[in-house]
Amino acid sequence: MTAKREGPTRHLFITGGVVSSLGKGIASASIARLLKNMGYRVRIQKLDPYLNVDPGTMNPFQHGEVFVTDDGAETDLDLGHYERFLGQPCSKQSTVTSGRIYQSVIQKEREGRYNGGTVQVIPHVTDEIKASVRALAGPDIDVVLTEIGGTVGDIEGLPFMEAARQYRHEVGSQYVAFVHLAYIPFIRAAGEIKTKPAQHSVQKLREIGIIPDFLLCRAEKSLSKDVKEKLALFCNVDLRNVVDLADVPTSVYEVPQVLFKQELHVAVCQRLNLPVRECAMHEWDLMVSHIRKPKDTVTIALVGKYINHQDAYKSVTESIDHAAYAHLLKANIVRIESESLEKDDNWVEKLKGIDGILVPGGFGKRGWEGKLRAIRYARENNVPYLGLCLGMQAASVEFARNVLGLADANSTEMNEKTTNPLIAPMETQKDIIALNLLGGTMRLGSYPCTITKKTSRTSKCYGHAELVHERHRHRYEFNNAYRERFEAAGMIFTGLYLPDPTKPEKSLVEIIELKNHLFFVATQAHPEFKSGPVEPHPLFRGFLGAAYKRKRGAPAGGDTEMTLPPISG
Ligand code: GLN
Repeated sequence: MTAKREGPTRHLFITGGVVSSLGKGIASASIARLLKNMGYRVRIQKLDPYLNVDPGTMNPFQHGEVFVTDDGAETDLDLGHYERFLGQPCSKQSTVTSGRIYQSVIQKEREGRYNGGTVQVIPHVTDEIKASVRALAGPDIDVVLTEIGGTVGDIEGLPFMEAARQYRHEVGSQYVAFVHLAYIPFIRAAGEIKTKPAQHSVQKLREIGIIPDFLLCRAEKSLSKDVKEKLALFCNVDLRNVVDLADVPTSVYEVPQVLFKQELHVAVCQRLNLPVRECAMHEWDLMVSHIRKPKDTVTIALVGKYINHQDAYKSVTESIDHAAYAHLLKANIVRIESESLEKDDNWVEKLKGIDGILVPGGFGKRGWEGKLRAIRYARENNVPYLGLCLGMQAASVEFARNVLGLADANSTEMNEKTTNPLIAPMETQKDIIALNLLGGTMRLGSYPCTITKKTSRTSKCYGHAELVHERHRHRYEFNNAYRERFEAAGMIFTGLYLPDPTKPEKSLVEIIELKNHLFFVATQAHPEFKSGPVEPHPLFRGFLGAAYKRKRGAPAGGDTEMTLPPISG
């Protein structure tokens, strides 16, 4: 057990300057990981200045993936970084948007809870923000890290900055510190590193009364001593707290090591009046050593609709990578726009040389038939397949059409009038869909799943656990009227959700698996939200193992023996 801490929960606020997309989420998560490796109990949250109540209704093209927590919050993808780096779940409290803050303030105003006072940004909005930071603190939490989204100087971000300033004042500056992440550009034509934009962003912070304690410098290359001295002087930060965060050579998982080498964890503890403890890096270092020296590669096709957006499938590509690390492999992920498989007569060519096919979650008709083509190819050619959410619904439709001969089988999301509604809304969702309400209308968050067949790959992957928990985000479900026909034709139901254990007939299909196939497993859930580099998700591990087996020449059909290569480390 960790010794009792003196004083209140400590707080670190992380801001960003000059430009966005600097990896503030990764930097925050890395600091949190170092503190955790020192045995401190940490929590981490993101304050997002946009007005959406949550990112659930945002287009993945604009904002990247929507991440889902156990308690059903639809969040910014930074929470995914937090969970992967920390190896611990976040909750609803880890995500706060301006939209949510205003919604709550307006609600209170409507309920008359401000006693007729004029409702203003200061103090009402800032109080609400401070309350959501305070909500993470407590006797069992040593440090709360709060990342403020956006860039210093954004109009939307001001109430958050002001709330953070007040927070330091109220809790005491010996317990609250600020980390500022700034971009330090290298001007090629002049051959020089420029510190002026970073100086300006720190000045902007000072205008609102925040003096950063740490300056994390994002640059292409490490900074010279001169440059660091200049930054320290003009940004008013101790020289030892000017930290280099140059681009890492291999993987973002190297960032905690980069910060550790510069002893940022020591400086943070000293600044926050916490004892400096040993920081256990062994497990993390071992994982990174696997990333650096893979023994072979494996090629996985990711067939989806938001392929062109770098971050739209962030957790999926991360989970593939995590599983690859465990097998000492490097995953070569080939992103295939599913629509392109519909339009191109030579579509099969795109799948040649692929060791495994994955169809991730998604919404809407575009590219649907292309996904079905890719799945058919996987099923018929003994290519390992992993389906996630929509990827499970698509695998079911493909099977119904091409194995059971139900030519118009479909999801009612794609064709409302199909005579074989294989995938259809849950009763409870029907009214909501009719009303055309989109925000917060899904089966969301963690649900238990009973693993039904001990001999299945699903069961083997999950280490023969009888009950597992996975996260959900969808409106449609497998239609139980088709279950018997599926089983008779070789598709087994290896995972079921039993809302009422006394009524097994009311169960929902969670995981399907094809018999007599190297690996064909599809789940209604989103296992990608529960994978980390140190502990990859078991279904992804099984899938990658099978894909590598296929690469090494598994027979083109009938091989039913699944072996998981040993996991080292
Ligand atoms: N569109 C499907 C549904 O709502 C699948 C959702 C998903 O893949 N996340 O059920």
